[in-house]
Amino acid sequence: MTQHTLIIATGNAHKVEEFELLLKNLDFNVCSAEVCGGMPEVDENGSTFAANAQLKAEALRKLTPMGAWVMADDSGLEVDALDGAPGIYSARYAGEDASDHDNLVKLLDAIKNVPKEKRTARFRCVLCVIDPEGYTTHYDGSCEGRLDVEVHGDRGFGYDPIFVPDGYSESFAQLGDEVKSQLSHRAKAVEWMRTIVGTSGL
Ligand code: IMP
Repeated sequence: MTQHTLIIATGNAHKVEEFELLLKNLDFNVCSAEVCGGMPEVDENGSTFAANAQLKAEALRKLTPMGAWVMADDSGLEVDALDGAPGIYSARYAGEDASDHDNLVKLLDAIKNVPKEKRTARFRCVLCVIDPEGYTTHYDGSCEGRLDVEVHGDRGFGYDPIFVPDGYSESFAQLGDEVKSQLSHRAKAVEWMRTIVGTSGL
């Protein structure tokens, strides 16, 4: 069976490894954007996760070899008491060059007076996959939970130290990768992709 090349629209090696693991058993040789000279600069000016994922996938596709598949993701945290913020702005919630820590501090301040029962939130991830013929598909995944007003745990990244997934009493940063790889928004989106792409014979 021929192996298909799937190029991930990111320069982040950790993300490539995470996707490689989640996509195992599909007949893909998973590569980072480094194989086509690096991820080009993309103005993520879409108004949805899907639109931003598509902007990244299309930008990379212009540089990829014929016959390759391209995949991009966009993800973030939606907080109900903040009308869905930070949402698509999750990475830059506290400003363009904000660190994960800056964003977390801003969010903790924004929710400090929200009662516990109203601190519901979800992580969302949308994958945009473009096949070699240019056929584009989106796969959506989410993970429901609630926010703590104190940080707990030192694993993970971003908003993990305050996000407690439904059915658990510890944060993602306490639970770690093993649990996260079963429950996360990225895992759920990839599960969809595996189901759909897997049934097409890959
Ligand atoms: P992106 O998918 O790299 O665009 O991520 C956007 C932002 O959403 C990240 O910078 C984090 O702030 C947040 N985020 C996305 N996924 C996670 C996660 O699994 N844990 C914690 N924060 C996340």
